[in-house]
Amino acid sequence: MPNPSKLINIAAEGLIVLGALAAVYDLMRGRIDRARESFGNLLTFAGVRVLGLVFREAGVLSVLYAMQRHAWVRLPAGALTSVACFLLADLIYFSRHWLYHHWRVMWLIHSAHHSSHDFTLTTAIRVNWLGGFIEDFFYILPVLAGFPLGEVYFWRVFVRVHQTWVHTQKIGSLGFLDRIFHTPSIHRVHHASNAPYRYRNYGGVLNIWDRMAGTFQPELADVKPLFGPAEPTRSMNPFKIVFEGWGLFFRDLGRARTPRALLATLFSRPEIRPRITS
Ligand SMILES: [Zn+2]
Repeated sequence: MPNPSKLINIAAEGLIVLGALAAVYDLMRGRIDRARESFGNLLTFAGVRVLGLVFREAGVLSVLYAMQRHAWVRLPAGALTSVACFLLADLIYFSRHWLYHHWRVMWLIHSAHHSSHDFTLTTAIRVNWLGGFIEDFFYILPVLAGFPLGEVYFWRVFVRVHQTWVHTQKIGSLGFLDRIFHTPSIHRVHHASNAPYRYRNYGGVLNIWDRMAGTFQPELADVKPLFGPAEPTRSMNPFKIVFEGWGLFFRDLGRARTPRALLATLFSRPEIRPRITS
């Protein structure tokens, strides 16, 4: 298994190249609004990359390395361990993603990814700067459960990279694959806020977790997905994209006059207003 840092670097650089190509392509085709958004998404991801280079190695990865020493068991290397590690990484992705949409504090980290009415390949890199760090901590569990860190990180990056190509409107239904795997059709549903698509399809690679949780919804031929919330973030300023909604949250925290009200705000669900018209 390759070194975790190398894996992250390869994936991140691939995503930057992909984003830049998409932005230039849109510009050449005269699609100014989309090119503008792609540049905004690219600038946002540049922040992810800079923070990752500065803090990841010394911070989160060193915590995961340290956790290896406290593993409860050591699992033997082999195909069975690898398959189990993939399933666990995919389940962690699903669980964390569900939490992003159901807890306001977590939504602050994820809302940037859903704040546009557009849905293109560069939406995949429209992500909050803190997301990668928070996500890494969820992988302490498989490390403690005895999976080798290289293996854990390989599947963590694998699921993340799979989540890139699904941000497209160019690939329609893929037939039976849509029933098993998280495909572009399934992910369009996740990014839609209109009924019956709201709060659906949190999976990474497999749909099995959504099916078990009752949150699976295929794309319907007669219901067009309307992407993003009622009020999108129209700016291409990465600071606005990343911190939209944070001010409102801290204002609500400041208005809480009792410990009970404070806890209620801290553990509230996000209010995501659905789109009704395109
Ligand atoms: Zn989401």
